[in-house]
Amino acid sequence: TTFSELGLAEEILRAVSEQGYTTPTPIQLQAIPAVLTGQDLLAGAQTGTGKTAGFTLPLLQRLTTLAKPSASPTARRPIRALILTPTRELAAQVEESVRTYGKYLPLTSGVIFGGVGINPQIKLLKSGVDTLVATPGRLLDHIGQGTIDLSHVNILVLDEADRMLDMGFIRDIRKILALLPPKRQNLLFSATFSNEIKELADKLLNSPAMIEV
Ligand code: AMP
Repeated sequence: TTFSELGLAEEILRAVSEQGYTTPTPIQLQAIPAVLTGQDLLAGAQTGTGKTAGFTLPLLQRLTTLAKPSASPTARRPIRALILTPTRELAAQVEESVRTYGKYLPLTSGVIFGGVGINPQIKLLKSGVDTLVATPGRLLDHIGQGTIDLSHVNILVLDEADRMLDMGFIRDIRKILALLPPKRQNLLFSATFSNEIKELADKLLNSPAMIEV
C-alpha cells in the first residue's frame, strides 16, 4: 500500500514525498484510514515507528475537509485541532511535523510550552491557528488568563499519554478535557498501557478503533 492509496489530498502527498517517504510504516497504514473515518483511536506505538505522521497526516486531511466555522479570510482562525504532548521538545517536534506535512495546505499551526515567555504565545493565539500543539501546564496558564478559546476544537490528540501521566499531568489533562466541546474526535497514543491509561482511555474514547504495533 502506498500513501496515495490511503485517501490523502494531493497537497499532503506532495509534502510526504518531499520528505523522502515512499512507504507508510505499519502504524501509518492502520492509523491513517482509521482517523480519516472520524472515529476515535487508541494506538499503542513507541517513538520511532512513524506515529507522528500517523496522526498528523490524517489530522491535516480532516481539517481540510471539515467545515470551517467562518468563511471570512480575515477572521481569526479558531483552534480546530489540539495536540497535547508531555514535553516542550516533543511539542516543538510535533509542530514542526504539522508544519512540514501541511506546507501546501492553507492551514496554520502553532506551539505553546512552558519555560519561555508567555507574551509571544498570546500574540500567536490572538492571530489564530488551525492546529495548536501544547504542553498541558502552559495550556492551563493560557486558559487561566483567558487568552485561549478551545470552543472550536474538534480533534484532540494525546501524544505519549503514558509519559504525560508519569509526569503528573493527569489533573491538568482532566481540566483541559472539561473545556473542550463534547462532540469531537479523540486520538490517544501511548507506548504502554497501565491501569491509569486504560481508565483515561475509557473516559475519553468513544468506541475507538484500536491499533498496536
Ligand atoms: P516518529 O515515530 O513519529 O517519531 O518518527 C520517527 C522517524 O521516522 C521520523 O524521523 C520520521 O521523519 C520518520 N518517518 C515517518 N514516517 C516515515 C515513512 N513512512 N517512511 C520513512 N520515514 C518515516
